[in-house]
Amino acid sequence: MELRIRNAPALRRSRPVVPCAQCGDILLAPEWSEYLDDRHVRHLWSCDACGYEFETEVADPVPGAQAA
Ligand SMILES: [Zn+2]
Repeated sequence: MELRIRNAPALRRSRPVVPCAQCGDILLAPEWSEYLDDRHVRHLWSCDACGYEFETEVADPVPGAQAA
């Protein structure tokens, strides 16, 4: 039962999921994350399949922008 909960589609919303830039394998969680400022986060990804490492930068929406 626990496994079914962990694999629920709803979890995808709270986790960044990107394909490996080298082999296309899906990476479920960044190896490391760094907050550049209030809204920009840099993720370091490490691919288990091919060992490739790369970074992505994401900008989170302004908190409260949708609710307001
Ligand atoms: Zn890869």
